[in-house]
Amino acid sequence: MLAIGRRSRIGALISAFTVLALAVAACDDKIDSGHNQLNGASAAASPSATDVPGDDGDPAPPASTAATPAGKPTATKTTQAPPPGNEFTGRLPKFGKPPTPVRIGLPEGAGAPYYARIPTDQPVAFLTIDDGWIKRPEALELLRESGVKVTLFLTINAIRDNPDYFKPLRDAGADIQAHTLTHPNLKGKSYDFQKREICGSADQLAQLYGQRPTLFRPPFGDKDATTLKVAHDCGLTAGFFWKETVDKGIVRYQEGKSVQKGDIILMHFRDRFVDDFIAALQAISAAGLTPALLSDYMPAK
Ligand SMILES: [Zn+2]
Repeated sequence: MLAIGRRSRIGALISAFTVLALAVAACDDKIDSGHNQLNGASAAASPSATDVPGDDGDPAPPASTAATPAGKPTATKTTQAPPPGNEFTGRLPKFGKPPTPVRIGLPEGAGAPYYARIPTDQPVAFLTIDDGWIKRPEALELLRESGVKVTLFLTINAIRDNPDYFKPLRDAGADIQAHTLTHPNLKGKSYDFQKREICGSADQLAQLYGQRPTLFRPPFGDKDATTLKVAHDCGLTAGFFWKETVDKGIVRYQEGKSVQKGDIILMHFRDRFVDDFIAALQAISAAGLTPALLSDYMPAK
């Protein structure tokens, strides 16, 4: 009797803990940084080839992230043992040594050129990670474990609360580039407005990280001729759109069903950073390509 009573009390404790764990997991989307993910995140679909035209994947700031609880793992996740320290290591594809980069020539002109795909014959693709609102602690280990070099287009407003988060990422090979001060839609705005946003962000990133960006991405991928002129005048050599986006562990292709040579892939610093990063690398690997760094393919300054 006593044993049964104790067992049922333990059962009640486990139930209470499960409820608590579920409650914490449900809040996960609203937390900017800090704790480890409770979910194994393997519930994500494998990369699929859904074409979503116009999906720029650019998120709103965290103030409006309340609309993202859908797709959270179910209760079965919490009954699993906690993941070991390197739970993602086995999910990272292995890449061979990337080819020696061959820089492309850029057209001369009053505006910076703009690419969604780098015109290269080399079997490479370019993973880019935008904004910086959500600072998952796993990002550094993922970069180190994978050995992959990525380009970060950081928004000053998004990184302002903790710019130091990005320093070890930079030291692990991430290349920090410009993405404006406040993440406005630049299209149609005056030269001075766009200059303040683009030049201003490049100047601040130089102060924060010791190297001035040479590349940029306009927020939402929206730009006009003024944007490209401003970027050129700010000393930025090229701007970048994308061919694939990654969100919630799913790769979406804007054309075709696989990553092509020279493609630029967009993901963000989001709660599902681990899944998005791994999905992007798996898509690159499945296409027989190797991740490479955008700035290695741009003309040397
Ligand atoms: Zn952005």
